[in-house]
Amino acid sequence: MMNKRRGLLVVFSGPSGSGKGTVLKEAMKKCENLQLSVSVTTRAPREGEVDGVDYIFYSQEQFKELVSQNGFLEWACFCENYYGTPRARIEALLSEGKDVVLEIEVQGAMKIREKCPDAVLIFNLPPSMEELKNRLEGRNTDAPEVIAKRLETAVWEISQAKKYDYVLVNDTVDNAANTLLAVIEGEKCNINRNEKLLAEYK
Ligand code: 5GP
Repeated sequence: MMNKRRGLLVVFSGPSGSGKGTVLKEAMKKCENLQLSVSVTTRAPREGEVDGVDYIFYSQEQFKELVSQNGFLEWACFCENYYGTPRARIEALLSEGKDVVLEIEVQGAMKIREKCPDAVLIFNLPPSMEELKNRLEGRNTDAPEVIAKRLETAVWEISQAKKYDYVLVNDTVDNAANTLLAVIEGEKCNINRNEKLLAEYK
């Protein structure tokens, strides 16, 4: 009888404006086994965001309390707000065999690399820097300095992409979602992840 295999922990990063949230939503529509971790944040909810669905919204005090209880798998400060991945649900999902995606920024991704060497790290690129600029400028009514700051952060984040295992280009959402799912499936076939499976054939 085949063992139920443990799920894959997937980190999905990419600069603000690269469309990683949209790619993930599309990938989850196509693949039931993929689950998104819901992060905790201290930033204020944006219009339309639902507590417990998009994020779990905490005060700074609540966040610090969870840090002191070792309740986060990783956490980071990004643009003056705190973001963290709650530990509890992830372990349960992985044990059930679900593949769990953490949509997190680069510092958090590097912490996951250290703590969970089994995780696969995937970086989402916009089609071009020009397109990223258009998306950032077109998406909101931010002041030019804010847009410039986001672009600067994006350039730094892209310079960190070489620390990831895979990179994909979000040219169309459908292509990017298919590529993401292909990477996940391919990674599950990696020989180093299949010792248990091979043992069953002895
Ligand atoms: P936003 O405020 O635009 O929703 O998110 C800002 C950045 O924080 C994005 O790059 C997002 O992926 C990242 N982020 C969201 N949740 C987490 C988390 O739990 N941990 C870390 N390290 N980054 C996160």
